[in-house]
Amino acid sequence: MATKKIRLRHSLPVGRQASTPPLRHSVKADLPPVYEPKAVEDRIYAAWEQSGFFSPDNLPGERKEPFTIMMPPPNATGTLHIGHAMFLTIEDIMTRFERLRGKAALWLPGTDHASIATSTKMEKILATEGKTKYDLGRGKFIERVNEFVAGSRGTIRKQIRKMGSSCDWSREAYTFDEQRSLVVREIFTRMFKDGLIYRGNRIVNWCPRCESTLADDEVEYKTEQGKLYFLKYGPFVVATTRPETKLGDTAVAVHPDDQRYKSWIGKNFTVDFGSGPLEIKVISDPEVDMSFGTGMVGVTPAHSQVDYAMAEKNLLMVKKVIGEDGKMTKLAGPYAGMPVVEARAKLVADLQAKGLIEKIEDHTHNVSICYRCATPVEPLTSRQWFVDVNKTVPGLGKSLKQASVEAVKSGKIKIIPERFEKVYFNWMNNLRDWCISRQIWFGHRIPVWYCQSCYVEENEPERAGTGAKESREHTGIIVSVETPTTCPTCGRRKDLTELVQDEDTLDTWFSSGTWTFSTLGWPAPTLDLKRFHPTSVLETGYDILFFWIARMILMTEYALHEIPFKKVYLHGLVRDEQGRKMSKSLGNIIDPLDVAEKYGTDAVRLSLVIGNSPGNDLKMSEEKIAYFRNFANKLWNISRFILMSAGATPRPTKRPKAMTLADRWILGRLDEVIKSVTADLDSMNYSRPGETLRDFTWNELADWYLEIAKIEGNKAEILLFLLENILKLWHPFMPFVTEEIYRLAFAAGVQDFLMIGNWPKASGKADKSADKEFGLVRDLVTAVRNIRATYKVEPGKRVEATMYCGAKKAVVSAQAAIIAGLGKIGQLDIAAKGQKPEKSAGQVVGGVQIFIPLGSLVDLDAEKKRLAEELAQAEKYLASLESKLANESFVARAPAAVVATEREKMAVQKDKIAKLRSQIEQLG
Ligand SMILES: [Zn+2]
Ligand SMILES: [Zn+2]
Repeated sequence: MATKKIRLRHSLPVGRQASTPPLRHSVKADLPPVYEPKAVEDRIYAAWEQSGFFSPDNLPGERKEPFTIMMPPPNATGTLHIGHAMFLTIEDIMTRFERLRGKAALWLPGTDHASIATSTKMEKILATEGKTKYDLGRGKFIERVNEFVAGSRGTIRKQIRKMGSSCDWSREAYTFDEQRSLVVREIFTRMFKDGLIYRGNRIVNWCPRCESTLADDEVEYKTEQGKLYFLKYGPFVVATTRPETKLGDTAVAVHPDDQRYKSWIGKNFTVDFGSGPLEIKVISDPEVDMSFGTGMVGVTPAHSQVDYAMAEKNLLMVKKVIGEDGKMTKLAGPYAGMPVVEARAKLVADLQAKGLIEKIEDHTHNVSICYRCATPVEPLTSRQWFVDVNKTVPGLGKSLKQASVEAVKSGKIKIIPERFEKVYFNWMNNLRDWCISRQIWFGHRIPVWYCQSCYVEENEPERAGTGAKESREHTGIIVSVETPTTCPTCGRRKDLTELVQDEDTLDTWFSSGTWTFSTLGWPAPTLDLKRFHPTSVLETGYDILFFWIARMILMTEYALHEIPFKKVYLHGLVRDEQGRKMSKSLGNIIDPLDVAEKYGTDAVRLSLVIGNSPGNDLKMSEEKIAYFRNFANKLWNISRFILMSAGATPRPTKRPKAMTLADRWILGRLDEVIKSVTADLDSMNYSRPGETLRDFTWNELADWYLEIAKIEGNKAEILLFLLENILKLWHPFMPFVTEEIYRLAFAAGVQDFLMIGNWPKASGKADKSADKEFGLVRDLVTAVRNIRATYKVEPGKRVEATMYCGAKKAVVSAQAAIIAGLGKIGQLDIAAKGQKPEKSAGQVVGGVQIFIPLGSLVDLDAEKKRLAEELAQAEKYLASLESKLANESFVARAPAAVVATEREKMAVQKDKIAKLRSQIEQLG
């Protein structure tokens, strides 16, 4: 038997790592032993900002293809929370990746004035001073808000920088700055001239606390335990949760097929609930649920969206019994002036006294509440400004609703994850005319003036669906981008009394809906618009799909006749480790800036991305961030080792030549990693590439290749090449640590940044045979390590081993040094085949038989003694289990699960005993 013997005991370069040469190549400074984010981040960010490369205008190279992303503007009054940190991270990854790929990357930052949220906040502040907004008056109130916003916008800018965001500050926008205000007035004016904006008396959602209208999607619902009142209603009985609104009833509705009421349809009758006789018409509507209550519902056109729609179809009378102040109106007779809750109690008591209440049942129902202040919303009719979503837009040939649906249906806009497309269509199809006027002081003032000499306000319509739409044909309404000086109808000149501007402001989404193009210079035909619009992707939370995304599609279709973005990427919400929402009351809030300060921004970014998938909520904990802090440090240490061992070797300009199997394998793996990370980032998957890179860096590079490098030596070029590539691949995820290493190791000058480097390219064919052969080497080493672990061999002790390799002899022989080095094998005998050595532990891996003489693993006598003791223990325990289970009364009385557990324990012991016996037998 020809056995190749390799004597390695004295020839292995074991001490190599200890004798690394001093660092002398292009590295400008030694990497300190520990990565200190605090000492690095602000300095690196300042250097990036100063370089000008956040702006696409300053990037090197031609960069014909744009990549544009508009930052969802955080509310100007807020501070950043963990949700902001998540979107900043994802958007920064997108931007840095595309910038590295050679695109003209523009990520445009900004803030939102968020009228209603900001006003609510200011009112709260005033309340602490014992004041209301009325004490200040409109002018002073807005002054206070602007002051406050100026301060908090500064804070937000700092926080965005802290997260490492590579956004173009030179193009920063604010939804309430001069340029954006001009855009809002321009769009309003154009829409009005196109007949798409009108003023009318229609039903709206009213928040009595905010004293303003709300959009349909600004209304939230909460379930409440209430009562269902069965009222004697003329000849019928009608069930209602809100008896006080019945004073405004003008009809009752039944299902057309309901035999109980069929003969009544179309007839009238009179009822009186105490506010005077009410003329009630019986109408039919297929929407009525025959099985709910008595199958008949009272119709209150002025105070229910559903009823108003029925009233429009049937031209019913409208009777507004609740006012904007949340109190009953004079039409409520003796209840006039009472807040609704009080009126309800009084009315119910009165009706009970009159015997008009048949019964009262407990009832769980949905109450609509204001999304800002949680006050119950009152639907009521009010004179407001609306955008007509069903009218054909001149020049577009379809309505805003149709255009918005088609933009997604045609595939021009892709929503990720796709399931939200259905949600979008459903919402769009149910879209009603959009009420855009708000009674909030802080916001874009409606650019409408009323001429005091010729404008006559339309009367409130008596019947639903008959109200006039005050629009461009109406005299004395002046809609203008600039403040008008004369009335075009009567020629009066503007002075303090003649032309009066509308008091209301615009829905905040009316301005943020223009975000993708108002930020690029519209309405002027700017180069920016031409170059960067439509934008590439809009990244935001799924919770503002309608508020904002739908509005942007609608507004952009109108203004530019094009889509605002090609893709919508919706992220989930950040929750705690138990899956709960983060809230002050639960005390589980993670402040992104605190943890960034503590663990470094890169660690926070990784923890927000790895394990995150679009549209799904992400669980977050401080432990997770700490883990990634260690990881950033690991990358630092790997780099440090590579740079030190590379010595004076110059930075490789191309892919170095592979000299050994391990080289072929690692370079092939790098290619695979480049391909998979690029493909994942390209398809907007951000978690998987992070995982791929982590496995490559930590396992394949650090645990295997670096160890092999210590054995094989002479790898400086490949190591530097690997380092530069992984720094680039990691850069979008961990911009700070990667840039710092790059600056210290490779940078050719002050303007040489990793952030503008070239994205790595895989260099050709996959090396399948290297993967396979190296796989065998890894398996053999792992097997030897496992055997060593079984016998608890000390880490430093060298063992002997014999490997029978069959056809794989050549491969194994060629890699003997690595196998021996990593497996800590002092003497390795390799042959095609042979006899199983006496007294040895063995394993078969990939067709190779591995034998390790037990004598080289352990002291045989001591081990025999140890195993014998362990066996005796195991047998004793087994006997006790057996006697327990032989006890009939135990088996009969103990719960089945307990008995099953005992039987399992018995099986485990029997297995252990068999193994110990065979180990003892092997020792002979
Ligand atoms: Zn409110
Ligand atoms: Zn006039």
